[in-house]
Amino acid sequence: MAKKWNLIVDVARCDNCRLCFLAVKDEYVGNDFPGYSAAQPAQGQHKWLDIQRKERGAYPLVQTRFMPVMCNHCDDAPCIKAATDGAVRKRPDGIVIIDPEKSKGQKKIAAACPYGAIFWNEEKQIPQAWTFDAHLLDEGWTRTRAEQACPLNVFRTIQVEDGEMQRIQVEEGLEVLRPELGTKPRICYKNLHMITKCFVAGTVVTNADGVEECAAGAEVVLTHDGREVGRATTDLFGEFTIDRLEPGSGGYHLEVTGSSGRFSTQFDLGNESPYLGVMTLGTTSK
Ligand code: SF4
Ligand code: SF4
Repeated sequence: MAKKWNLIVDVARCDNCRLCFLAVKDEYVGNDFPGYSAAQPAQGQHKWLDIQRKERGAYPLVQTRFMPVMCNHCDDAPCIKAATDGAVRKRPDGIVIIDPEKSKGQKKIAAACPYGAIFWNEEKQIPQAWTFDAHLLDEGWTRTRAEQACPLNVFRTIQVEDGEMQRIQVEEGLEVLRPELGTKPRICYKNLHMITKCFVAGTVVTNADGVEECAAGAEVVLTHDGREVGRATTDLFGEFTIDRLEPGSGGYHLEVTGSSGRFSTQFDLGNESPYLGVMTLGTTSK
């Protein structure tokens, strides 16, 4: 079995500094790599690597996460199927290359990508996407420009057999973008739930003679259809979050137990991550 290139992207590590974005611009703007890619235009919205942003939660517990996105180098790529004359090809090492000569005039290639990863070069009349820095890997590089530029180790380029990659995916809980499309991306994400799932948050307090105190160390248990789906302990501020909840999954029951009593409540989960407010231990359940 041949070893193929894969890229692992850890959403939890990215802080939106955009050095990777600049490294990709530095590599491709104005530079032709014959057989791999024509120069990226200096102007226009050409984001061969882009940083997407996701805000989750409600005041006062709000999180903002960032996710680098690029061509996924899919094993079952719609762009390859849309191309004529073999203008888009899958290399034996897994990388998808849009031929800068053969693809001339084939706007349908850009339209075929369900991830919006292909950009149309109006001046040259060609579709273009991030090439996984194939011209550098072929020279012996083992890391992409973006990976080298990233100060927080968000990216991990690995060249392994597919069986080994499947093992790593399971072991590290990696996911691909929009798996329901069946395109089999070679870019995998760690902690993707920070973008795709919801969390529930709240603040737990005690009330002794009218004085409110943060309830640190209270146990919070979340159930859905009678089954436990999450558990947390409140921090020094009495706050908790329980993550990885499926958006739009309906009714939940939350039970909090602390040294001064219990509190329970119910809520319906829509597409946003709710903040359940301040919960006072020992008060009547809602
Ligand atoms: S992400 Fe889009 S451009 Fe890249 S291989 Fe998949 S379908 Fe093609
Ligand atoms: S360089 Fe790293 S931390 Fe900065 S935006 Fe890119 S992936 Fe995120």
